[in-house]
Formats: sequence, structure tokens, C-alpha cells
Amino acid sequence: LKPFDRLTQAELNIWVKEGQQRSQLGQLPSYIPQLAQVNPQEFVVKILTIPGPSYQAGNEALRFPVMSVIKCFLLLNRLLELGEERVFQRVGVQPSDQPFNSLEQLESDGGWPRNPMINSGAIALAGLLPGKDADTRCQYLCSWLNQFGDCQLVLDRDILESVRSAPNAKNQALVSTLAAAGYLEYPEITLDTYNQICCLSATISDLAKLGLLLLKPPNPQWQNASRIVKALMMTCGLYETSGQFAVKVGVPTKSGVSGAVLSIIPDLGAIACYSPPLDSQGNSMGGLFLIEKMVETVNYPHFSRS
Ligand code: GLN
Repeated sequence: LKPFDRLTQAELNIWVKEGQQRSQLGQLPSYIPQLAQVNPQEFVVKILTIPGPSYQAGNEALRFPVMSVIKCFLLLNRLLELGEERVFQRVGVQPSDQPFNSLEQLESDGGWPRNPMINSGAIALAGLLPGKDADTRCQYLCSWLNQFGDCQLVLDRDILESVRSAPNAKNQALVSTLAAAGYLEYPEITLDTYNQICCLSATISDLAKLGLLLLKPPNPQWQNASRIVKALMMTCGLYETSGQFAVKVGVPTKSGVSGAVLSIIPDLGAIACYSPPLDSQGNSMGGLFLIEKMVETVNYPHFSRS
């Protein structure tokens, strides 16, 4: 059996329905006003597979901000443009058992950001994007992804306004701590750059196509960079839940506070999902449920139960 041949559209539809039900146990984030107002029942999925078939459910035209899922692609870009050595002079590879925006942890680590999948690490890497100001830096990453990912990310200015309207004291403090420890220059530009790249919006197809950059890297250099990104998605991509999800499901996965989530099943497929209600760690409840069911369905050999 070729793994994705086991999945039928009817079966996917059943898991989507159940995912929608599960999502009712989750909460919308309240600290970004506009994210608190979305339809919690929205549930959109796209699966692109290496054997060829693709699957989808829900409103394919819907756009949503990718939020922290961008952290994977910021890391990918910086690894390819600057190399491993320079990137890992600014950020570590150590998992974290603290919330994604923990200031206490950054302080207790002497200002050294643990990994690129939490806010402090992604902010440190956003500080390495090229360009004279935040707009240029965000547009640089956006164009790069649209070119190589064959997708159409755009900056969602309404969400950005919403993010700016509710100043995020935690992220501001992370920036100051990073700057004081010497891991960040230009704190103001960098915080705005980070906010902007989190507000890049995608359709579910765009998100799945970004996944292909990690699933099917085009050459050995990309292969190595994407290997590193997937390792960090596996160990750090779901914050405090990362270890538990690795044991239970076992595929590199990254979530964002909008309810976006992206999983890579190495050599087999990319699963993109958008379902806004979150668990207490800030991961899409319906999204993680759906990914678990998909991995069970294809019986992914590396983490096969039997
Ligand atoms: N922009 C959001 C923040 O910094 C992204 C966080 C997330 O998606 N977990 O709070």
C-alpha cells in the first residue's frame, strides 16, 4: 500500500467534522482583538502529497494570518542566506517548556533566545533580515516565499493594525532583553518587522505550498536547511506540547496563534490546517486533532505503532 492511497475524501470529511467538534473546547486568543472576532467554526484543510493526490476541505479562498508558522520560513530563509554558523550565533536549538512569549525564561537564560520557534528566537532572526526598515524587511521575506513557494502571501494590514492597537508588553520586553544582551540591533525596526511577518496572510493552499519547500527541497543546500527547520519544528514547534505531540503523533509541526498549523510527513506529504480555537498552549485544537488522524491513516512508517 502506498501510504496516502489509504485516505479517501469521505474519510477526510469525517475527521474535519470531528475536528470542528473538538475545536469547540478551545478558545480564541484575546490579546489580538481581530483574532478574537473570527468565526471559530471555520475549518479549512489542504493536503499535498508526494504520490500526487491532493485533498481539501473548507473554504479554499479564505485568507488568514499565518502568525507563528512564519517562524519556520524565517529560519529557512536566514539559514539559506547566512548559513548555519551565523544563524546559531543568534539563536539556540534548545526546546522550551515555557509559553511562547516567556520573558522569565529569556531573562533566566541571560537574554539568549532558546530556539527560533518561540517569540524571542524568531525576533532575534527577524533582526537579521535585510532592508532599511520594517516594511522593506517584511516585503523581502514575503517576495522570497512567493517566488520559491509559488504562493501569494500578502500583508494583512487590518490584522497588523489590530496587533499595533494592543501594544504587546511581553514582546516589547523580549526585544529590550535581547538588545541588552547583544543579540539584537535596531530593536524598534525589529519588533515591527516581526509583527509584520506574523501578519502575512495566506490561503490554505499557500500554506500547504510553503510546506512543500520543507517536504521537497530543490537542492542539497535547501535539503540541509529544511532538515534543520523540520528538526526544530519537531522539538519546539508546538511550544510546551512539542514533546508530547512528538510521542503521540511524531511529525514536524508548527502552529500559530491564528489557528494555522502546518505539518510535514517526511517523504509523504504536507498538511495545512486552519481552525482558530486554541488549546492552553496556543495550538489549534482542531488542527492538531486532524493531523493526528491523518498520520494514523497513512500509518507513517517512522512512527508506526505496529
Ligand atoms: N504575533 C504573535 C505574537 O507574537 C505570534 C505568536 C504566535 O503565533 N504564537 O504574539
